[in-house]
Amino acid sequence: MELPTKVLIGDGVLSRLGEFISESSSEKGVVIAAGSNVASKVRDSVDSALGGKGRWVEVKAADMENVERVKKASYGSGCIVGIGGGKSVDVGKLAAFQVRLPFYSVPTSASHDGISSPFASLKGLDRPYSVMAKPPLGILADIDVIASAPRRLLSSGCGDLVSKLTAVKDWQLAHRVNGEYYGSYSASLALMSANVVLLGAKKIGIFGKSSVRDLVEALISTGVAAGIAGSSRPCSGSEHLFSHYLDMLAPDSGLHGEKCGIGTIMMAKLHGLDWRGVRSALRTVGAPVSASQIGVEDEQVVESLVKASSIRPERYTILSKRTLSNRRAENLARSTGVI
Ligand SMILES: [Zn+2]
Repeated sequence: MELPTKVLIGDGVLSRLGEFISESSSEKGVVIAAGSNVASKVRDSVDSALGGKGRWVEVKAADMENVERVKKASYGSGCIVGIGGGKSVDVGKLAAFQVRLPFYSVPTSASHDGISSPFASLKGLDRPYSVMAKPPLGILADIDVIASAPRRLLSSGCGDLVSKLTAVKDWQLAHRVNGEYYGSYSASLALMSANVVLLGAKKIGIFGKSSVRDLVEALISTGVAAGIAGSSRPCSGSEHLFSHYLDMLAPDSGLHGEKCGIGTIMMAKLHGLDWRGVRSALRTVGAPVSASQIGVEDEQVVESLVKASSIRPERYTILSKRTLSNRRAENLARSTGVI
C-alpha cells in the first residue's frame, strides 16, 4: 500500500505551506507547477508562505510536454508542489514520480479524486485512461480557496464521488466472474465516500464551508482507497470507461466528474441498483444528468456505451458482461433520461 503521509485541511492553511513541506524543501528550493489562473490568485500567499523559495512553472495542459518542462525545472530542487484543479496536480504528480522527488498536492478545487490518488490522467500517453504514479506525500487543502471555486467544479467532484457506487459493483463482479482480487476494506471506504453525496446530497449541495470540507475529505479518502487496493478498481469502473470514451469523441464537453456522474446513472441501471437515487442526488448538488447539459450529442452517448469496454478490455465490468448493441445502448440512455 502506498498512501499520503500528511493531510492538512482547514481555512487559510495555504499560509502554512512552508512548514507543511519543510522536510522536503530545505535549501534546495521547490518547484511549483500551476496554471496561470491559479497562479494569479494564490501566487502572493504561496510566495510568502515559502519565503521566496518557490520556482514557478506554468502548466498549460495535462500532457507529456508539460510533464517534461516540470521535470526539467525540478533538477536540484527538494520537491514538486502541484497547485490547481486537475491538470497541474496530475502533471506535477507524474513529473515527481519520474524524477523521484516528493510530491505535494495543493488542490484549489474539488472536482475529482486525482487530488489524492496515485494516478495521473494525461494526454499523449498510449491510452485514454490514467497512469499509475505514486500518491502525493502530502495534501494541503485550503477550504477558503476551494469553497470559492466555481460551483460547477464542486458539483463535478460530487459526480466523481457517486461513481464509486458502480466502480465497486464492477469490482465485485470481476471478483465473482474472474476471481480478481477484491479488497472489501478499500471497497467500503470508496462506498462511504459515494454515500457522502448519495445520502447527504442536500447538505453537500449547499457548498458551505462544512459541506466543502466533507466533499474534500471524501475525495481524499477515495484516493486513499485506491492506494490501499493498489489499483484504481474501487474508484473507476464501467462509468469511468464510458467517460473516457466520451473524452475521445467530445474532448471539450463536460468535466471528468460530470461525465462519470452521468455514466453512473446508466451503469447503476445495468447493475440493477437505484439509478433514480443516483440521478436525484446529482440533481440536488447541481451536477448535470443529461447529455444535452454538457453539450454531448445523443449518438456520442450511444457510441460510448457500445464501445467503452474496448478501450480497456482487461478491465472486466458490467459492460463486458452485458455487451450492448446500438439499440440496447440507446434504450438504456433514453430510459434513464440521459438522452
Ligand atoms: Zn474519476
